[in-house]
Amino acid sequence: MRRYLHIHLQNQTIDTEQLDGEALVKAGRYLIAKTLVDNNVATVDPLGPDNPLIFSAGPFAGTAFSNANRTSVGCKSPLTGGIKEANSGGTFAYGLGRLEIAGLTLHGQSKDWVVIHLHKDGAMTFDDATPYMGKGNVEVTAMFHERYGKHIAVGLCGPVGEYLGLLAGITFTDSDGRPSRLAARGGVGAVMGSKKVKAIVIGLHRMPQLHDRPKHVTDMRTYAQKLQADPVVSGFYQPTGTMGMADYTNYVGGIPVNNFTSGQQTTADGGPFTMGGTYISELNNSRGGKQTHACMPGCIIQCSNVYVDANGKEMTSPVEYETLALLGTNCGLTNPDHLAEMNQYCNDLGIDTIETGAMIAVLMDAGLAQFGDVAFMEQVFTELRQGSDKGRLWAGGTARVGQHYGIERVPVIKGQAISAYDPRVIEVTGISMMTTAQGADHTTGNVARMQSFDKELPELMAASLASQIACAAVDSVGLCLFGRSVTNPNIDFLAQAVNDTIGTNLEPNFFQQIGRETLRLEVAFNRAAGFTEADDELPAFFYQEPLAPTQRTARFHAADVHEIYEHMDEVGTEGVPDQYGRVS
Ligand code: SF4
Repeated sequence: MRRYLHIHLQNQTIDTEQLDGEALVKAGRYLIAKTLVDNNVATVDPLGPDNPLIFSAGPFAGTAFSNANRTSVGCKSPLTGGIKEANSGGTFAYGLGRLEIAGLTLHGQSKDWVVIHLHKDGAMTFDDATPYMGKGNVEVTAMFHERYGKHIAVGLCGPVGEYLGLLAGITFTDSDGRPSRLAARGGVGAVMGSKKVKAIVIGLHRMPQLHDRPKHVTDMRTYAQKLQADPVVSGFYQPTGTMGMADYTNYVGGIPVNNFTSGQQTTADGGPFTMGGTYISELNNSRGGKQTHACMPGCIIQCSNVYVDANGKEMTSPVEYETLALLGTNCGLTNPDHLAEMNQYCNDLGIDTIETGAMIAVLMDAGLAQFGDVAFMEQVFTELRQGSDKGRLWAGGTARVGQHYGIERVPVIKGQAISAYDPRVIEVTGISMMTTAQGADHTTGNVARMQSFDKELPELMAASLASQIACAAVDSVGLCLFGRSVTNPNIDFLAQAVNDTIGTNLEPNFFQQIGRETLRLEVAFNRAAGFTEADDELPAFFYQEPLAPTQRTARFHAADVHEIYEHMDEVGTEGVPDQYGRVS
C-alpha cells in the first residue's frame, strides 16, 4: 500500500489516495497518459491552472533494484501542445518510494512561490521560496542542503522555468546530491514555473514495506548479476556511457553537425574525432574523472559520468550522447571542455540540452554567429540566465526562434527539436520521432543501429513500433531503458520480480499490454488536442538537402508513417528483437 498525493496549490490542501496491487505498477508514462485523457486535458492552456503536473514513481521505487527508480513527469506540453512524459534518473522517485508515496500531482497554481517539503515523518509543509528565486540550480541545491540537510532528494524548477521559458525541464538531484538529472523535454519546467512551485524537497527515509522482502532481495541480486554479465553493460555503458553512440553515428554519417547540414564531423588533418565517446572517455579517465557512475542508488549499469578539467576539477555531470551532439557537434564545437562548459550552464539553468543546442545552432544558421563560436554560446547562456528580452525569446525553443528569424532549416517535429539522430540516415529512429505523440523524442523508440537502406518501409515501421511498445512499457514502470538488453529478453523474470515486490499476479505479457495501451492513449490525447497527419511530417529541408557524406535525403513522409499505430497488433509480442534493441 502506498499513498498518492493530490496537492491543490490554490489553497494548499492535499487529497490522499491509497494505492496497492496493479495500481502501483500501472504508473509513469501510462498513468500520465490515462490521467490526462480521462480528465480532458488536451484542450487546456498548458501554462494555466488546469494543466496537472504529475510526478510518478514505479513499483520498485525506494529500493536498490537496479535502474528502477526513474521519475516520470507528465502534463500537456507547452512546447508542442501535445502530451508529454519526460522521465529522469536521480533520486526523486527513490525518495518518494522511501516515504511510501507512489506519486503526486500538482493541481492549480500557487499564489506565491513555494517549496513543498515532504518530511521524513510523513508531514508536508509549504515553505517560502523567496530566498531561492532567480538563482542557479547549484546554488539553490547548496542552500537546500544547508536548510534541510544532506539526506534529501530534490525536484527543482530552475531560473528559466521561473519565467516560463520552454527550454526548461525539471531538475533532480543525483546520488551524490548534484542537481544534474533532468526531466528535460517538452517544457515541463515551465509548467512547474506556472504553478509557482520552486522545488519539492523530500526527506530520505527508510526502505519501504515490500510484499516479500527476501524474494525481492534475491530478485535484485539476480538482476544485478544478469546486468553484470551483459556485454552491452560491461563493454559499452560502464566504460563509455551513452556518448559512445557518437562514434557510431559519426561513422555512419548520422550525427547532427552545424544545424543538421552535415552528418559527420571531420578534421582537416584527419585527426581523431574529438567529440566521440572513445576520445572523451579516455581524456576524462586520464584526468582522473569518473567514467562509471550511477545516477541513482543501486544502478549496476552506471552509464553516467563525472567530467573533469585538465586539473582534475569537476566541470559537469553527465556528458550524454544527445548533449554531445546537439550542444556540441551541431553547434560546431570540437573541444570536449567547451562542451562540458555548455553542459554545465544547462544543468545550472535547468534546461534541455537537446532543445537548447538545436536552438543555438538555428541562431548560428540565422547569421548571429559562426558555428563553433564559444563566446557567442556563453552570451546566449548569460541572456537566458538574466531573462533579458533576448533570453526570453530564445527560451521559447527551436521552432519559435526559427520562426522569429525567418529561417527554413529548423529541425523540429511537432514544435520540438529533433534529437541526435538525423532521420535521413538513422531512419527507424526517424520514424519513431515522426510518429510519436511526444514530439521528436528519440527515447520513444530508438533503433539507431539498424541497417535500413536496403529495407522497405513496412519492416522499418515494425521495428520502430516494437521498440516504441517496449519503451512505453519500461517508461510506465519506472525502469531506465538502458537496461533493455537484459529486461527485454528476461520479461518473465521481471514480471515475477514485480510480483514479489508488490504482491501482484502479473503475467509476462503485462508489459506488452501496458506499452500498447500507453501508445493508444497518447495518440488519443494528441488527436483531441488537434494534431493531424500533417504534424508527423519532417521539415522540408530533410527531403530537399542531401546529407554529407552519404548524400541521403529523407525517404518517408507523414502520409507513409502516420497510420503506424493501426498496426500495433501485427508486431511481435516478445519485445524488441535483440539486434534492434541493442545499442552496441
Ligand atoms: S543506466 Fe544510466 S541513466 Fe539509467 S539509471 Fe543507470 S546511471 Fe541512470
